[in-house]
Amino acid sequence: MTKIKSKKKFGQHFLINEELASDITKKLIFRDSIIEIGPGKGVLTKNLLAQKVSNLVLSEIDNDLVTYLSIRFPGLKIISGDILTLDFNKLFENKFSIIGNLPYNISSQIIFKILDNRDKILEFVIMLQKEVAERICSAYNKKSYGILSVLTQTYYDMSLSEKILPNNFEPPPRVDSCVIHAVRNDNIDIGIGYNKFKTIVKNCFQNRRKTLRNSLKNLNLPKEFTSSDIFSSRAEQLKLNDFIWLSKEINKINHEVRTNK
Ligand code: SAM
Repeated sequence: MTKIKSKKKFGQHFLINEELASDITKKLIFRDSIIEIGPGKGVLTKNLLAQKVSNLVLSEIDNDLVTYLSIRFPGLKIISGDILTLDFNKLFENKFSIIGNLPYNISSQIIFKILDNRDKILEFVIMLQKEVAERICSAYNKKSYGILSVLTQTYYDMSLSEKILPNNFEPPPRVDSCVIHAVRNDNIDIGIGYNKFKTIVKNCFQNRRKTLRNSLKNLNLPKEFTSSDIFSSRAEQLKLNDFIWLSKEINKINHEVRTNK
């Protein structure tokens, strides 16, 4: 097989630690109907197939790798193109899982896409830049706590791996990495639609140093409402349940909260 050169524009850093690859794929609980994002040369794919999975689909943007993978894994479904434009609903009728060592430059966009499809995605196991992984899994009252932490943790139970050093990849990335494992929780209906919830959470974090009373001024909430104690807090001081409560209350008062998807 021809030697594959890594392409910077696709965020290609190939995992070369076989033991780590096996550990990552073993984390997956739901093993029927899986999308692997960015399989690269197939280091995770090989382990998934060895550990028995069904209905595995690969999504890879690099045509050279698509050709390589189709020779290495004949018969496996490979979707050539950008994961961000892939319509998950056309892929699986049932619920499914996601696994992948992500292209780090688009990892936040991939998480938002997963959240948009949260009721179909039972689980995801993904490797990403350590700082982004820490933000997603962050507890409240920390600098790393933000929109991604609140939205992801509202719908998924999360765990974070130890740090993974650059020398586990070829070429090595400039940053450390971590694996996050997310399993869908029981929050199916939190009492407010996802897009409204997302808009309110985004508004709360617009300026982290401001109190909620100031951050949410653009929603024109009544003074009686914003005089309560919670509005003297900053967004990072709110627990997940506080965000859910606050969003529902705001939605009751202001049905016109405009969503910006
Ligand atoms: N999984 C392989 C591994 O662990 O060695 C490769 C990981 S590499 C960090 C990221 C992979 O995602 C590359 O194969 C790259 O071509 C692919 N990729 C980049 N952007 C993508 C996109 N928008 N949609 C699908 N795949 C993408």
